Amino acid sequence: MSQFDLVIRGARCATASDVFVADIGIVDGRIHTLGRSIGPGRREIDAGGRWVLPGGIDSHVHVDQRQTGGGLTADTFATGSVAAACGGTTTMIPFATQDRGQSLRWAIEEYHDRARGKTAIDYNFHLIVADPTAEALSEELPDIVAGGCTSLKFFTVYDDVMLKDRQLLDAMAAARCEGAMVMVHCENAAGVAWMTERLLERGLHAPKYHPAARPAIMEQEAVYRMTAFAELTGVSLMVVHVSSGDSIALIAAARRRGVQVHAETCPQYIALDSTDLDRPGLEGAKALCSPPPRWRGNEAAIWQGLEDGFFDVFSSDHSPYRFDSSGKFPHGRDVPFNRMSSGVPGIETRSPILFSEGVRKGRIDINRFVALNSANAAKIYGLYPRKGTIAVGSDADLCIWDDRYETIIDNGLLHHSVDYTPYQGMRITGWPAITLLRGEVVAEYHSFCGTSGNGRYVPAEKRMSAGAVTPTQAELSKLGVRLASGQ
Ligand SMILES: [Zn+2]
Repeated sequence: MSQFDLVIRGARCATASDVFVADIGIVDGRIHTLGRSIGPGRREIDAGGRWVLPGGIDSHVHVDQRQTGGGLTADTFATGSVAAACGGTTTMIPFATQDRGQSLRWAIEEYHDRARGKTAIDYNFHLIVADPTAEALSEELPDIVAGGCTSLKFFTVYDDVMLKDRQLLDAMAAARCEGAMVMVHCENAAGVAWMTERLLERGLHAPKYHPAARPAIMEQEAVYRMTAFAELTGVSLMVVHVSSGDSIALIAAARRRGVQVHAETCPQYIALDSTDLDRPGLEGAKALCSPPPRWRGNEAAIWQGLEDGFFDVFSSDHSPYRFDSSGKFPHGRDVPFNRMSSGVPGIETRSPILFSEGVRKGRIDINRFVALNSANAAKIYGLYPRKGTIAVGSDADLCIWDDRYETIIDNGLLHHSVDYTPYQGMRITGWPAITLLRGEVVAEYHSFCGTSGNGRYVPAEKRMSAGAVTPTQAELSKLGVRLASGQ
């Protein structure tokens, strides 16, 4: 190679499995060479022995999305992706939402239109399926998966998107048939509705009652049911935003049975707890999300799962509602907790919180950080090894981390369109000094210096080889079902 577009010298690289020191030679946005004393480059950056890690992948993000309950997501693909870049995230996977009565194809095309030419980092989509008609599953889904959208999301709560058990089974079987994977928001809708009514009839309206209305046992009920459905249909499942230790135990038990089930958790389950909803006035609504942050002390179980490799993915579940009538309070401020928009922003603070609380405090090593921050999401959602690692041929999505940089999270530093952060005042050590998307610098510390619109849609590979709609003989016998020969 006579000359690289860019050389990053003296990089202390970490992937999910290795640590090595190298110069990184970049050509046409990809890593061309890893070695010592390579070069020269038209441009050079001296990493000075600092950590150089794969760019973050935030695989659970809501931007420019129609939301249940009437609240408007304040971030567009443009603003959300700029905020992501400033927090060291170079790929995001937001949701495209199907409305009931709408075709899946229209839904995905609509979100392509919203994102195209406006996004500052690379992206893919998960498709929220709210209306899994036989036609949608058999005629539309194959094209959607072939187009690179290989993950579907289902809900067990929220009236306008939730699926009945039979629909969940049919949709999971169809996903498995196409080699797509399935994410599920796990809470029992009837249990939440029943608890909410009991609280409201006693006049308990404040945000601090939101966790009581959505108890961990109702998350666990749905986690068990969904892992059982995954076992029945043979689909690969991701349980998103796992919030409690007992849900961890249920998922671990399903894995021991051989069910392919992945698990995600989020910053709100390690950095917030139910006491954050008990702030004066409506301040508690700044920590109101579902599943809710649990009792103080529960975060130890979540940390345990991050440390020991139980969790695959650490995502933000970025839900950017402004603290006004457009976002958090679409039905006014004088309403009970169940009429406020549920969700917290966090796309820019996700990686720094995990780095500071995890790596700097000695809870996880640097390889585990890379796995949780990017590598596993890339593998599970079909973007690996193009994304999520440092290897010859991979996209040059890289963060040079300043692991000594100290800051205090303040909403004024952040680039999202939300007027608060639930992490206001949190002390952080470590921030991405330089973030590169395909070899271009897109952020330096808290400043965006990329080009909005340079982000590309990255089609995802299928999660698993396509399977049969009906379970195979071997799968049936695993479930204890014996069929006479010929059946
Ligand atoms: Zn979400």
